[in-house]
This record gives sequence, structure tokens and C-alpha cells, in this order.
Amino acid sequence: MEFEKKEIVKKSEDFSRWYTDVILKAELADYAPVKGCMVIRPYGYALWEGVQKHLGQAIKDSGVPNAYFPLFIPHSFLEKEKEHVKGFSPELAVVTHGGGKKLAEPLVVRPTSETIMYPMFAKWIQSWRDLPFKINQWCNIVRWELRTYLFLRTLEFLWQEGHTAHATHEEAEEEALARLEMYRRFVEGVLAIPTIVGKKSGAEKFAGAEDTYTVEALMPDGKALQCGTSHNLGQNFAKAFEIQFQDKNGQLQHVYQTSWGLSTRIIGALIMVHGDDNGLVLPPEIAPIQVVVVPIGEKSQMSNLKFQNHISNLKTDLETAGIRVKIDDREERSVGWKFNEWELKGVPVRIEIGSQEIKNKSVTVVRRDTGEKSQIPNPKSQTEIERILDDIQQNLYQKAQKSLKENTHEVGDYAEFKKIMSGPRGFIKAFWCGSAECEAKIKEETKATIRAIPLKPEKTLGKCVFCGQPASSRVFFAQAY
Ligand SMILES: [Zn+2]
Repeated sequence: MEFEKKEIVKKSEDFSRWYTDVILKAELADYAPVKGCMVIRPYGYALWEGVQKHLGQAIKDSGVPNAYFPLFIPHSFLEKEKEHVKGFSPELAVVTHGGGKKLAEPLVVRPTSETIMYPMFAKWIQSWRDLPFKINQWCNIVRWELRTYLFLRTLEFLWQEGHTAHATHEEAEEEALARLEMYRRFVEGVLAIPTIVGKKSGAEKFAGAEDTYTVEALMPDGKALQCGTSHNLGQNFAKAFEIQFQDKNGQLQHVYQTSWGLSTRIIGALIMVHGDDNGLVLPPEIAPIQVVVVPIGEKSQMSNLKFQNHISNLKTDLETAGIRVKIDDREERSVGWKFNEWELKGVPVRIEIGSQEIKNKSVTVVRRDTGEKSQIPNPKSQTEIERILDDIQQNLYQKAQKSLKENTHEVGDYAEFKKIMSGPRGFIKAFWCGSAECEAKIKEETKATIRAIPLKPEKTLGKCVFCGQPASSRVFFAQAY
């Protein structure tokens, strides 16, 4: 059968199956032979390369160079920071044998790199002149999760992790907040995903951190997804690893540190937030292919010189404007098959060129986000397509922002809280007294956790949604991925 459509279930019918269908059929990733692992296929990896390009540039521009640290961590290193080892122990992969022999000390496959980096920091940082010290690495991470989900939770995933050391607490705090802002701008500006930013509660913060900051987004099934985090580590690790510097008065001091990361989970968010019944919908900023050109017509006509010139001129024009273009002139596929394929893969703009277009000296343009079709005269095609790509980027953000607003509920009553969490979910903005006990009870009864404590405190505070005691803040609750 020539026109073999790749079927996916409807997003509104079965969200979780739709998500998996899109990933497998748009060829973003596939299941690996090891349960819980995933193969990232070229089209999915191109999305990650887009993340690396945009975010990597922002990191480099801020003066942080890339480096690479080993995959293996001596188990004893992990034990140096007590909270840290406690937090990560349940999900460690441990190597006990190497080269056919039992190892004298087991090696941990990195679940994060603080404990393999910081002994080196202790060696390299000597004086106040060495500060601030900043390093970033792009690498893979292993956390032995029992319940896995493509992109969102896999045993092995890819990320970037930045690590810095500073002379003062204020500088470290400033750095942690600047990285939070860097992630927010990337997620909103490039991925067109609106976010909520804030601080984590004591129960939700990174193991070993003083404070954890987070960028959170809302998925269409009403669950929150953490898109990036930034930690002020204080002196916890500096004391555990003896990272000291001589200050200007010749006194030895421990450094203040930060670490911050963003992982391939973000691709899961991208798929969920923008995708529709026909598959992926990619924001132009991150789309590996921004414009696909599909020639329409008989083979004899398509090999016509005029026809080919028309297409290659258009390609050159668009590429000159910095637009990523693909010409799909495969002869073994029908036009219908190609339309379906590029829709499924979320390419923002499709251009159709047939005899009609050649005759009218125009192109037919179809938007992936709205399905809108228009004719553009040739001389205007470059600027007009740039404008359409911009418009798609804006439109996707606005659509997602509308959904975030509609699904953020201000709740003062616990019965209503429970009703929302057992129904449509979403974010609940509610007062909280600050006690870990209330937080734990809410989690037990509704599966909702505190996702973010806003950085700007409320002017007037009410009563804790759970216990009725005076609140210390108004926070965002949600069930989370
Ligand atoms: Zn309370």
C-alpha cells in the first residue's frame, strides 16, 4: 500500500498513549534492550542539539567553559556529604567488578557530579584570585528509576550541569538566581513554554543543597514538570570536600557553591505542551527543520528545468535568511504520505509547489499550528515566511499561557483542593503555614506536592489551606512527573 498513514491515538482520548505514539512514530526515540533505557533517534537528538546550541551559547556567553569529568565516582566520595548520599542511595547503579576482578572499592555511576568534581575544585582553588570558579559539563547521568517513561524518566538521561564556587554567600545566591533566570528565558523564549519559577520547600529541595530554585511548567494532563533547577549549595559540599581559599587577609575560608541543570526531560515537555492530534508541533526556534518544501505534480513536470530552478531559488532565498529548509523530493513517496509525515514530525511550515504555483509565480504555505493555507508571491516569500515563523512561535507560547492560566486555581478550602486534585488537576495556588507536616499530609491525601514557593512574597497572607494556622507563604501545588 503506497499511502500508509502512521496512525496515532487522539491527544484528548488517551493522553499517555498519544505521547508514546508521537515519540515512536515521529522517530524521536525508541525503547532500548535494557528496560528503562531509551535510544534517542536522530530527529529527537536534533532537538537536543537545539537545546545545546541555544542554552550552551547562553552558558558560554556568561563566561562558563565546558569540561568533562569521569562517569565513575568512588563510593566513599558520595558518602562525604550526608544528605546527598541519603538522597541518592535508593537509585544508584554501582559497579563492583572491573577487568574480571572484584574492585577494592565499588564505583558509583554518576547520578549527578558534585562528588566527582569537588575534590578537583579543592585541588584547583587556592586563593581568592581563583574565584569565582565556574565549569559546565554536558553528559549522561544514571538514576535507577523503577517506573520509567520515555524522555521524562529513564535510567540514563542527558543533561548539562553547571558548578560554581564563590567567595561569599551573596555571590553564590546571585549566581543561583541568575541561572534560574537563564532557564526561564530559554524555556519560555525558545521552547515557547510558559513557566512558574520559585524556590523548593525543604522536602523537595536537592539532597545537600541549602536552597533549590525551580522552573516548573504545566502539562496538558494537569501535572507539573520540572524544567530546570538551580541550587545554592552554601558551604555544605565545600566543608565535606575541604574546598578552601585564602582570602585577601590571608585567612582560610570555605567557598560557597552552586550547581544547576537541565535535562532531556525538557523534550518530553516540548512534545506534551504543543503537540496535537496529528502529532508534534514544534516551535520554530527549536525545530530542526523549520520549512519543508514538497513539490507537487507529475514526475515529468518535476524534472522540468523551470520547476527545479523555482525550488532551488526558493531554498537559497530561505537559507540566506537563516531558515532551516528541507526539500522533500523523494519519488517513492506520495504527496499525501509526505504531508502526513511532516505534520507528525511537527515541522512549522510546509510549502507546496506545483504547476499552479509556477504559473502564478507564487508558493502555497501551510502553517502546522493552525492549518492555515495561504498563497505568497515569490518575491515576498522570504520575508513573509520569516514573519509566519515568528508568528507561530508567539502563537504557541500564547496558547500554552492561556492553558496555564485556565488551569491555575486559587483555592482557600481543602475540600475544593482535594476535588481539583482528584479531577482536572493543574496548579493550585494556596496558602501554606510552612510546616513539613502539612505538606506531607497534603501529599499523602492528594499526591500534590509544593512545586514552587514564589520568590516575591505576598503582601497579605491568609490561613494554611490544610491546618488553618497563619500562613508563611502562598505556594504552587501540583501533582508532578
Ligand atoms: Zn499548615
